[in-house]
Amino acid sequence: MTPFCAAPVADRPVTGGRPCTEVDTALEEHAVLRLMPDRAKDLVRQYGRSRRMDCGDQYPGPTGVTFVTTGALAAFDRRSLACVGLFGPGAAFGWDRALTSRDHPVPLLALVDVAWIELEGDHLASAMDPVWLEHVFARHALDRLERLEADAACNAVHPIPHRTANWIRRLAILTGPELRTTQGLIARTMGVQRTSAHAAVKALERDGAIRLFRGRIRVTDPARLARFACGC
Ligand SMILES: [Zn+2]
Repeated sequence: MTPFCAAPVADRPVTGGRPCTEVDTALEEHAVLRLMPDRAKDLVRQYGRSRRMDCGDQYPGPTGVTFVTTGALAAFDRRSLACVGLFGPGAAFGWDRALTSRDHPVPLLALVDVAWIELEGDHLASAMDPVWLEHVFARHALDRLERLEADAACNAVHPIPHRTANWIRRLAILTGPELRTTQGLIARTMGVQRTSAHAAVKALERDGAIRLFRGRIRVTDPARLARFACGC
C-alpha cells in the first residue's frame, strides 16, 4: 500500500495529502538529505529522480549528485577493472558535479538490488551555500582517499579468501544478512577470476559462516565471517 505523508505523525512533515514518494521518504531518512536546508530539499522534491537497478545491472555513471537509499552500488575505475568505491544506504557521492563543470563519470554496478535519488549538480549548487558545499566535498574526498588507501593496501597484501569474506561482510553490514548477489559479482568487484571467488565462498560455506543459494548469499554466522575476513 502506498504510504501517505498527510497523517499528522510526530516528526514527519505533512506534504499536502499527496502520496509519499520515494523522494519524500529519502528526504526524511537519508543521512545527508535530511540535513540539507529547506530550499535544497524543495529542489530535490522538484528535480530529484528516483532510480533503481537490480543486482548485476550496470549504469555508465550518474550525471548528478547521487544519494543511495537502499542496497549497495559498486563504483569502478574507468576501465572497469575493479571496484574503487562501495556506496550503501545513506551514502552520497558526485559532489564534484555541484562544484565544477568537469564531468567524471563513474561506471556503477549494483551488487544487490539498489535504489537512489539523483539530482543535477547545478540544481544543488544553486540552492546551497558554496562554503557548505565545499566543506561536504572536502570531507567526502578525504573519506574516499582514506578508503582507497585501505583498499590498495588490502589488494596488495591480503589473500583472495580473506578479501572475499570481507566483501561479503561489508555488504551484509550495509544491507543485511540476506544478500541477493552472486559469486560472479563478488569476483568482479575484487577484480579476480570467478573461480578464485568461488573457491573462497565454498570454503566459507563449509565453515558455517554463510549459506549459498541460487543468486543469493545468506550470512548465517556474522562473527565467524568476521574472523575470516581481513577487516579492511
Ligand atoms: Zn584486506
